[in-house]
Amino acid sequence: MPFRYLFGPVASRRFGRSLGVDLLGQRICSFNCVFCEAGPTQTCTMMRGSYVPTDAVVAELRAWLDSGGAADVITLAGRGEPTLHRQFGVVIDAIHNMCAIPVVLLSNGSLFGLGEVREAAARADIVKVSLSGWDDASMANVNRPASGLTFDAYLSGMIAFREEFRGELRLEVMFVDGVNTADDCVTKLAACAAKIRADRIELNTVVRPPSEAGTGAVSEDVLHRYAVYFGPQAVVIGCSGEAAPASDNAGDILSLSEQIIGLLARRGCTRNEIAMGVGCPFGRLESCLQILTKQGRIEKAPERPDYYRLVSG
Ligand code: SF4
Repeated sequence: MPFRYLFGPVASRRFGRSLGVDLLGQRICSFNCVFCEAGPTQTCTMMRGSYVPTDAVVAELRAWLDSGGAADVITLAGRGEPTLHRQFGVVIDAIHNMCAIPVVLLSNGSLFGLGEVREAAARADIVKVSLSGWDDASMANVNRPASGLTFDAYLSGMIAFREEFRGELRLEVMFVDGVNTADDCVTKLAACAAKIRADRIELNTVVRPPSEAGTGAVSEDVLHRYAVYFGPQAVVIGCSGEAAPASDNAGDILSLSEQIIGLLARRGCTRNEIAMGVGCPFGRLESCLQILTKQGRIEKAPERPDYYRLVSG
């Protein structure tokens, strides 16, 4: 069944099979990171709003569960910063009321300076925030935040959240080759990370085709070297071990096409990730990918030919 606000379940490198919930509907974020896999931010803002109707999101979740939907986690993610949605806490509560699937909030942490955002975020089971800079200049370089956010406010918000949150807090540190990878940069990032006191620090790099061409990855060996700076909580996130889908529940080719388009609207995906996301065997998926490519609706990323993405414009 095609959904407007739900996508997947997709194979997540960190959470298993994850049903995504998109609370923005468009590329709306408080950051415009150079490494963003979803492409350039269209609306870069710190302004919270009701970007998609909460009732419609909850109705889709109800329908998905009623149709036998199963996942390891339900993740508030999508194409931007989920805490920009004024009622993301209501959605978390609704999920808890409807099922026992743990809720993950993927946030950049930029709005955690607001008490009401921290209070709503604390209702999730796992919260993952991110860090790529250590002061205003480095944050401007990598994250390109909306105006009005200072690094001190950003870091203080995440520190305050840690003090209040009883669930599992993960911190992702994203390394961009030549941008925040000099030894003194890594030292400063590690010092900031230590203040947040996350349960787990995930060291990551640009794996998917990034927002800015030429934004490069560091090797997994280098990430392992950095891990020493971050202490025992640090883990290196490598490339995904991808699994093949188990069954064909994709329905007809038209419905499958729309599911693929919906998935790729959120982010570029490998063929395996698409197969997992739409629950379709490779034979049928391959035909559909070829049709969509011929129609000019999707394309392979030139810099990563194993990735598909929407044709822009
Ligand atoms: S990487 Fe995350 S925080 Fe950065 S622009 Fe993309 S969605 Fe926003």
